Amino acid sequence: MSAQGIQPWPYSIINTVDDVQFPVATVKFVRRAIGGRGVDLSMPEGLLAGCNCSSDAQCSDCDHHEKDQERDGNGDASSTATPSSQASQTALDDDDGDDAGSHCTCTHRYGAVCDPTGRLLQPEWSRRPLLECGPNCACPMSCGNRYVQRNCHGARSLAIYRRAPLGWAVRTLVAIKAFSFVCEYAGLIVRERDARKIDRERGDNMNFLLILKERRSDSSALKTHVDASTCGNVSRFFNHSCAPNLDLRAVRTGSIVPRLAFFAQRDIVAGEDLAFSYGDCAPPADGDTTPRLKCNCGAENCGGFLPFDANAFPDEGSTQVQ
Ligand SMILES: [Zn+2]
Ligand SMILES: [Zn+2]
Ligand SMILES: [Zn+2]
Repeated sequence: MSAQGIQPWPYSIINTVDDVQFPVATVKFVRRAIGGRGVDLSMPEGLLAGCNCSSDAQCSDCDHHEKDQERDGNGDASSTATPSSQASQTALDDDDGDDAGSHCTCTHRYGAVCDPTGRLLQPEWSRRPLLECGPNCACPMSCGNRYVQRNCHGARSLAIYRRAPLGWAVRTLVAIKAFSFVCEYAGLIVRERDARKIDRERGDNMNFLLILKERRSDSSALKTHVDASTCGNVSRFFNHSCAPNLDLRAVRTGSIVPRLAFFAQRDIVAGEDLAFSYGDCAPPADGDTTPRLKCNCGAENCGGFLPFDANAFPDEGSTQVQ
């Protein structure tokens, strides 16, 4: 298939298996997630006011990592199952005021998110809040702590291709190093009530609603809903795998609403499909007759069915969560 007429999608689009056209007419390309009706993307006053750094380098200073890790005890935040991650209101109360000195107030406590090549710094701290500089910061867009927001739609070296029997899939044309940022899950950020409606009304159509749950310290969950049915970027075509090579993390870039960021879980070789886990892959329990979609991921540990989250909308029956 020629790439003509699909200019807004800045990736290679390949179809050598059938006549299905890439849905350029019905799905709008957006670089990043955008706020839907009633979604407040501002940061509550008093939380993460922003730094006064004047140079790019100042924000990249993460000397405080080691020290804070010691001070906080073992430094290991409890790890949770994909796709949830831990970030609490308390944890976001960023600065404890000790010796911020000339250091960047954004990176003072948790360090910069990525190194200059886009790899997660200290990935073993894997469930720490990830905070980039935002609109309230004095630093320029080239700041070392703005990698995710600068590269949110992913690289041109990602190809969307037609793959039977999965439909569209995504593969990388170049090798990706472990823990590298790949792209954000782009789409419309919707309120929970709108997410329920979207889910109810989609019928048998594919599900492009991604729900990320972050556990808070009081065991409640902060949920972010991004719907890519009518707009998105390359991530809209990532399939599920029971042995995924992508991990989903919440990264905040100046809003309490996080960006849903994909990072490589391991080294990925050129030509490999990119996939993440849509949720718990366990096969249905005995006696569970909920209809489930078949999983075609081909992984050795494949449970045979796509994940199904009965608790996505707890008081409204169940839904398949992508
Ligand atoms: Zn700074
Ligand atoms: Zn900065
Ligand atoms: Zn900053």
